[in-house]
Amino acid sequence: MTNLLSRGRLEVETDLLLGAEEVLLPAGMIIQAQQPGSETASARIEPARFDASLFAAAPPKPQARDLAEPPSASQPSPKPRAAPAQPPEIAHPTESLLPNPLVDRVSAPAASTKAERLALLDRLHARECPHCTTATAHTRLVFGEGNPDAELVFVGEAPGETEDKVGRPFVGRAGEKLDEMIHAMGLKREDVYIANVLKSRPPDNRTPLAHEVDGCGPYLLAQLSVIRPKVIVCLGGPATKLLLATELGITRMRGAFSKVELGRAEGAPFEVPVMPTFHPAYLLRNYTVETRAQVWEDLKKVLTALGRAIPMRAASRSG
Ligand code: URA
Repeated sequence: MTNLLSRGRLEVETDLLLGAEEVLLPAGMIIQAQQPGSETASARIEPARFDASLFAAAPPKPQARDLAEPPSASQPSPKPRAAPAQPPEIAHPTESLLPNPLVDRVSAPAASTKAERLALLDRLHARECPHCTTATAHTRLVFGEGNPDAELVFVGEAPGETEDKVGRPFVGRAGEKLDEMIHAMGLKREDVYIANVLKSRPPDNRTPLAHEVDGCGPYLLAQLSVIRPKVIVCLGGPATKLLLATELGITRMRGAFSKVELGRAEGAPFEVPVMPTFHPAYLLRNYTVETRAQVWEDLKKVLTALGRAIPMRAASRSG
């Protein structure tokens, strides 16, 4: 049983932001809720449990502001303001110096818009990918989807059962968790782009093999070089290994930016900061305060690198 008195603001905030329906709170903590246009209401927690759905109910949405240090009732709560984008500190410079041997192996066809280039790349991949044209365990290819001009791209591992049926990335249980993460960041799924290392489902959802990544991975890198995002989030080990050409595991790599060079832009190398974090499926299997807090810390660094405000309110599941 969690020692309630030892729970800090970060843990509570993380529970709320990653969609917990019921949150353990230390007795004595003061909670604030505010409806747009109304006065702030505060309540001191007497029992140890607090139903987070109070903050997720809609409409109108009550908001949980600064849970640990509420401003006085006469002062309006300060709104989180977007900071200028901070260049991310690159923590694994040796990784970023290694040229990725798979970059530039596939070139996206030329077209006048990113959306058109991605559509042509989709067709090229379906026709020519050495892995997906010979793989037999899948029913559909899952190219990826989202905003072709996205500042932020999430890269997962490979389609699972639901994705294989539907032909879209991250639409099963792991997808629901990824959606929660995106909403907790104050973003919508349509704002970002989502793709995978492999575009066809491996047999029994096993981890992609090296030769499969070697065949299909260059199409992902071409896709990323069309989108040219400001930040890429790698969800789990296979995406991190492919993008950063590293053998280091996700536990070692997560939480710090590295760089991937995606070809050249205007005569200079085009480098994108990459934040590895845990895969949502791993989060579901290891649903602890610690893993959720780690993922939220990683996502906050991504928001800072993008110059976006860090939301201080609970995100509802449907968001
Ligand atoms: N897991 C992934 O890595 N990608 C998906 O699209 C779905 C689940």
